[in-house]
Amino acid sequence: MSISRRAFVRAGLGAGSALTAIALGSLGQAKSGLAQGTSGGVLNLYSARHYDTDDALYSSFSERTGVQINLVEADADQLIERIKSEGTNSPADIFMTVDAGRLWRAQQEGLLQPVSSRTLEQAIPANLREPQGHWFGLSKRARVIVYNKERVNPAELSTYENLADPKWRGRILVRSSTHVYNQSLTGAILAAAGAEATEAWARGLVANFARPPEGNDTAQIQAVAAGVGDLAIVNTYYMARLAKSQNPEEQAVAERVALFFPNQRDRGTHVNISGAGVLRNARNKEAAVAFLEHLVSTQAQEIFAIGNNEYPVVPGAPIDSTIRGFGQFREDSVNAAVFGRNNAEALRIMDRAGWR
Ligand code: FE
Repeated sequence: MSISRRAFVRAGLGAGSALTAIALGSLGQAKSGLAQGTSGGVLNLYSARHYDTDDALYSSFSERTGVQINLVEADADQLIERIKSEGTNSPADIFMTVDAGRLWRAQQEGLLQPVSSRTLEQAIPANLREPQGHWFGLSKRARVIVYNKERVNPAELSTYENLADPKWRGRILVRSSTHVYNQSLTGAILAAAGAEATEAWARGLVANFARPPEGNDTAQIQAVAAGVGDLAIVNTYYMARLAKSQNPEEQAVAERVALFFPNQRDRGTHVNISGAGVLRNARNKEAAVAFLEHLVSTQAQEIFAIGNNEYPVVPGAPIDSTIRGFGQFREDSVNAAVFGRNNAEALRIMDRAGWR
């Protein structure tokens, strides 16, 4: 729970894998407003993401631009509170986290400023960034159905909406409604179906729970494999982590389950982002924008996305083989900002439906 602070002053690529080191070689070609070798000062990055592969990307940015990155790591809510309490004295230039719902929360608190960048606007599909440039998606994840192969015929699966059908009574696993992933999913259904249908859906879903919500997405997949329930709603990267695990027990879990992309015949599967925005009181806005632009080069995209087994946001950027193995799918193209805008109403609906 503690807030940690690290600096990447020409830290080198020591933590990177061979893949990272190779791919980073071409990052120097990425365009930015900062000339190579310029002494660009300091960039204060407040991040709720922490992967070794991200560290290598930060180091490569410092090497290319001369900008020193000070990294402050904590969970998203802690970082938001810290930036609020620091007020106009906040040294933070960039806020980075997962889920558009949390980026939206920072925006609502007035912490972010709009950014206009042709590089970001051309690289990132419009639905994966805030329309005024308050934040930008940098990688994406799908919220999918993972089912027990022995107990569910995939032909029975279709949509999120269908999970409210009584045929799933006592068979569905999902984490708590207090978690932003489910709030954003419910916000997406709200955008597609309206309040009345969404509340009916939430009630039907809760009626079908195999147990009261407990644990994270990994715990849901493990419970599906163990037969506690027959299917779970989870993010794709949790499945990828288990599939890639060196731990035989986790491998066995991954082998007992399969992944299904809901809503392929209508609006597409719910997709959320990991992303970042420039803070209102940023002292080094130029470097902050250059840093975001650095992360959307195709080479950086591959590394950034793989760091958490996610999909790149930039079309055509390389995809990790396990993730590619999940197959291609149609994505719901609603703007990620909608998840934030619908968050309060989604929460009220989940609450009324008894989703704890
Ligand atoms: Fe997660």
